[in-house]
Amino acid sequence: MEYVDFLLVGTGPTGLGAAFELLAHKPSSRIMLIDKAKVSSGGLRNDCKMNFTYPIGFPVDFWPRDLAEQYLERVTAVLKPDIMERKNVGAYSKRAQKIGVELLDVKQAHLGTDGGLQLINKLIKELEHKGVNVSLGETMLDLDPVKRIAKTDQRELQYKAILIAPGRGGFDFLRKLMTNIGIPFSDNSIDVGIRVETREIHYPIVKDYYDPKFLFPERVRTFCTNSRSAHVVKERYETGHGETYYSVNGHAWSAERPANGLVNFAILRSVEFTEPLASGQDFAEMLGLQAMLAGGGKPLMQRVGDFRMGKRSTRDGFNHDLFDFEPTLKDCTPGDISLVMPAKFLRSIWKALKLLDTIVPGVLHPSTIMYYPEIKLYANKPQFKDKRYFMAIDGVYLAGDGAGTSRGITAAWASGLRVADGMLKGEP
Ligand SMILES: Cc1cc2nc3c(=O)[nH]c(=O)nc-3n(C[C@H](O)[C@H](O)[C@H](O)COP(=O)(O)OP(=O)(O)OC[C@H]3O[C@@H](n4cnc5c(N)ncnc54)[C@H](O)[C@@H]3O)c2cc1C
Repeated sequence: MEYVDFLLVGTGPTGLGAAFELLAHKPSSRIMLIDKAKVSSGGLRNDCKMNFTYPIGFPVDFWPRDLAEQYLERVTAVLKPDIMERKNVGAYSKRAQKIGVELLDVKQAHLGTDGGLQLINKLIKELEHKGVNVSLGETMLDLDPVKRIAKTDQRELQYKAILIAPGRGGFDFLRKLMTNIGIPFSDNSIDVGIRVETREIHYPIVKDYYDPKFLFPERVRTFCTNSRSAHVVKERYETGHGETYYSVNGHAWSAERPANGLVNFAILRSVEFTEPLASGQDFAEMLGLQAMLAGGGKPLMQRVGDFRMGKRSTRDGFNHDLFDFEPTLKDCTPGDISLVMPAKFLRSIWKALKLLDTIVPGVLHPSTIMYYPEIKLYANKPQFKDKRYFMAIDGVYLAGDGAGTSRGITAAWASGLRVADGMLKGEP
């Protein structure tokens, strides 16, 4: 059986952050990084906008401000971001405050989907060059935490310490693993909302501030804004019973690609469930399947003009010259989102959009498209034996978006650093 000192599962920012830190402190140790995909998934791969201001991406129950800021400095030192200029934030902020909305001033860098891919390839090459064993296309299946053996689809690996960082896409895998090896966890939160797509001239704030983060009443917020060369995409999810549903998302290309003059952003409401509804995952699946039922197996899209008149959108309205742009997500069904979106989410999101239209007039142009569903699952939050280093059982560390210690690239990288600090504690 092969032996490694540090086994890192997942080449997202959590795994990469841990790998670079371990390498810096113990260059002669045996470090292995595996990923089931050939290229890491998640936000490094998609759009790659990085936020360098607390608390964006940092779940506050794991990250008090001081600690997060210390780690953010370390993340900045490795990633060396090119922070984008933000203009007129004060003016927008003042307007927002008057109507009970907050605009966060966040330091951001943006690489785009193509730039993100280049960064991943560069980082992986650097790790390999420095002696890290990187195995892509290898899936972790199971774990024996007592014998310290991880089973993959290719072999068994004995380790001294393991980091499992499978991201949001590894939600089910981590849930099953934690159940099998007896790590208690909770999964009682969810964000549900829509993705808005419009022309940049109807949401010109993006010229001043790439990803403006507005916080509205009733736990509604804007999230993941993409512009210049922006596209809406759909992501496939599978339920525990093997049924498929899609959630929409957005991304943008770097400045090297031609502009399409469109912008998209998510507007989401967070809820936390209490008894008897315990699982955010189960709730998300139910919403996702209901949307598929109404959309004939595809997400739904509706023009704001139709929504205001209380009528469904039709294919005609998307081809007709009445409207001034075509949707970037073609594989989507024109319909009526109010048929399938629970009232609690729809009402507060529509209210928030009207407030947003006061701050940035034009965003509710009749052409603007609302895509549904956009669902963000919070992680299965494990109960940590050592919360400081995200250690769930001796030698087993769980971190990143999959374990709820991050909700963005920089916090995921910082989570990897925290795990590496834990693994290195007590090392000669
Ligand atoms: C489409 C999309 C766009 C996003 N855009 C942004 C953005 O612009 N800015 C931002 O800050 N955040 C963004 N995010 C969030 C961001 O991606 C995450 O916060 C971050 O990537 C989490 O890092 P991670 O290391 O925990 O997981 P991930 O980056 O998701 O990496 C997990 C890795 O684990 C691998 N894996 C899963 N299961 C297994 C297994 N069983 N065996 C082996 N490997 C496995 C996966 O293939 C994956 O490569 C986005 C997320 C998505 C899904």
